[in-house]
Amino acid sequence: MSTVHETKLDQLEMKRAVYQLLINGERIDGSAGETFKTYNPATGEVVAEVAKATKADADKAVEAARAAFEHGKWKMWPVGRRAQVLNKIASIMRSRFNEIVELEILDTGKSLAAAQGQVMQAIEDFEFYAGAIVGHRGTVNNVPGQFHNYTEKEPVGVCAQIIPWNYPLMMAAWKIAPAIAVGCSVVVKPATLTPLTAIILGEICLEAGVPAGVVNVIPGSGREVGNHLVEHEGVDKVAFTGSTPVGKDIMGRASQTLKRVTLELGGKSPNLVFEDADITAAVDGSLFGIFYNSGQSCEARSRLYVHEDIYDAFMEQFVAKAKRLVLGNPFDKGTHVGAIIDQGQVDVIDGYVQSAKADGAEILLGGKVAQVEGYEGGFWYEPTIIAGVTHEMKAVQEEIFGPVVVVMKFKDEKEAVRLANDTEFGLGSAVWTKDGARATRIANQIKAGIVMVNCPFSAFPGTPFGGYKQSGFGRELCIETLDLYTETKSILSYYGSRPLNPFGL
Ligand code: NAD
Ligand code: MN
Repeated sequence: MSTVHETKLDQLEMKRAVYQLLINGERIDGSAGETFKTYNPATGEVVAEVAKATKADADKAVEAARAAFEHGKWKMWPVGRRAQVLNKIASIMRSRFNEIVELEILDTGKSLAAAQGQVMQAIEDFEFYAGAIVGHRGTVNNVPGQFHNYTEKEPVGVCAQIIPWNYPLMMAAWKIAPAIAVGCSVVVKPATLTPLTAIILGEICLEAGVPAGVVNVIPGSGREVGNHLVEHEGVDKVAFTGSTPVGKDIMGRASQTLKRVTLELGGKSPNLVFEDADITAAVDGSLFGIFYNSGQSCEARSRLYVHEDIYDAFMEQFVAKAKRLVLGNPFDKGTHVGAIIDQGQVDVIDGYVQSAKADGAEILLGGKVAQVEGYEGGFWYEPTIIAGVTHEMKAVQEEIFGPVVVVMKFKDEKEAVRLANDTEFGLGSAVWTKDGARATRIANQIKAGIVMVNCPFSAFPGTPFGGYKQSGFGRELCIETLDLYTETKSILSYYGSRPLNPFGL
């Protein structure tokens, strides 16, 4: 295994003395003159200094977004011209692919392979919406003769977009691309732990020809700046990805101004392995399903259910292969599992593992903070497999958001479906079986927004991503996302030769 490169920020063209806010097309400091630091979770070292947005800055960003929306040219342009700019954003990102990947790794501690895949998907998301927007249009509807009705899909207006730390650039792309494709203006609030690539993406949008004010990026505290955007009279829509408790809080506050809201929240996704599955494919896919991105994925397949007839055979391979997962230099091609975002998250993860132990569960692998040679200052957790659980346990019901999977047996389809649905969440799910009819039966019964059949991946640009139940609502990454950034206006007209006199006066 060779070290590809261990980058320092100093080597990147994307280095900034301070990563500033982007408001109305300008890079500016926060109005209070404050900054905060971001850290490399792999090493604990400071990566960069970032300007800290205040409520006054949020006001300024909303004002700029509003002016660009009401008086600017962006939404008035021919759709093909907006599409061209989206493609330009993608091509600039492609030309700086390695730098963006390196910056994302420094800010998140994720592995090279994960960062590369996510940056590529962010690029392809802009390309997808450049195409999708061209076919997005209203309808002509059947009405009585001498009437005519058509609908317009009008951009909803100013959108606040609040981003989590687990996929900083990809989540920013999922939100910015469809919003600006339809002609909205956005105020993006990245997570304070990982603001760097969203700031760079904002700069790239500007460089590609998105007019000033259409994309604004304001890193700052969720409770202060995020909240302020959610309550802001000048914001028409909030798109949020993050935890379920914060999502509930946002939905409540947004109701005061009846903002449009879409929420992509937590999950506790089931992974069902049937006795007729290709066991090796199921083992490999299930390992990826939980340990990818160090388990810090909303759709992580964190509840593994294995049919009793193959349980022993499956688990033998599953544990043996999990032992081969490499934690280490995130810049190394051979690293499978990167760092955990911060000490707080390590504590959360370990808290769940300790609670499972206290509840009588059995730790088959891991179960503790990882010691990674050369990365003693960073935040790491061992890939952890927990068996001997019951369904009431906290570790089985609550989202852990780390490299921890709980494993159970089931005896038939009925029990598998019951266990899979015994959760307040409904984001992802996976089914492993060679029987197509069974796969369809199970998929139809699972209450989740996403079902992966014999497939380790949850999404591509074009596939709807979002949840049932307390995993939120709205779908991202797909064509219907465009509808969620537009209002439907119905235009009904009368063209008969005789004037109508409905009151008969
Ligand atoms: P979080 O909810 O703490 O924070 C997410 C974002 O919201 C951050 O930018 C934060 O600053 C901001 N925020 C926090 N409190 C706020 C408030 N009161 N008002 C407005 N904004 C506020 O979540 P996190 O820890 O950053 O991310 C992890 C969570 O996100 C996990 O629970 C995970 O399941 C979820 N997630 C869901 C999806 C999905 O698509 N469903 C995707 C990724 C992550
Ligand atoms: Mn960071």
